[in-house]
Amino acid sequence: MPTDATSAKSPFDASKERVERVLCFTAHPDDIDFGAAGTIAAWTAAGVQVSYCIMTDGDAGGFDPADRARIIDLRAEEQQRAAALVGVTDIHYLHERDGYLEPSHGVIKQVVKLIREIRPDIVLTMHPERNWDRLQKSHPDHLAAGEAVTRAVYPAVENPFAYPELAAAGLEAYKLPWLWFISSPESRENHFVDVSAHVDAKIEAIRVHASQHPDVAGMERVVRGMMLANGERSGLPTGTSVEAFHVVSVNGSSTIAGF
Ligand SMILES: [Zn+2]
Repeated sequence: MPTDATSAKSPFDASKERVERVLCFTAHPDDIDFGAAGTIAAWTAAGVQVSYCIMTDGDAGGFDPADRARIIDLRAEEQQRAAALVGVTDIHYLHERDGYLEPSHGVIKQVVKLIREIRPDIVLTMHPERNWDRLQKSHPDHLAAGEAVTRAVYPAVENPFAYPELAAAGLEAYKLPWLWFISSPESRENHFVDVSAHVDAKIEAIRVHASQHPDVAGMERVVRGMMLANGERSGLPTGTSVEAFHVVSVNGSSTIAGF
């Protein structure tokens, strides 16, 4: 398990929780690498099976007009190579159009289906609340991804009568233990992971999304600085590189049905 900061606020004790499978939902290729590639590298190094679901094709991304015709294939290739660098090979796509993602029942049902198939201990996604300190974290697709996944996680994933065709197809209802968010407002952060041992892997994974970086050196400087700033907020020693999360216990020992 990754080393965790000593945040008194975190409901997640990495020394006690048994994590075997993690399923990550993000809006665009590259979101997961900016938000959590260091933590994912630590998970896979510890034997955790991590899967990605990228909800759009990222077809509105990029900066080079020459890439337009093949942008979908290019971004899928980039995501595949970036994932491999942090030990992930299982990548799913919902193929929604970039910029048009909504928490519709069509999208929510696909999220429920995948969670019931993989039955992860942790679902990780993007925060549905807007970050006013850094609006780029809160692209409308990011907010929609977070909202769709949150609505799926409760109640539909655990309700056998929600989208009943899924249960009829053999995908039984499932109670998810943990929901983790990246790109949250700072006021929501309650869990910090020391990723100092995986900073280079994370930078390399982000760098692989070359179609998105007109200024690679600038990107690297900003990402390294953000990890150090996360470290300052975490309470870990100055100079520690950290990824920050808002962690929610969905089903724990004190959970009761309906409220
Ligand atoms: Zn994005």
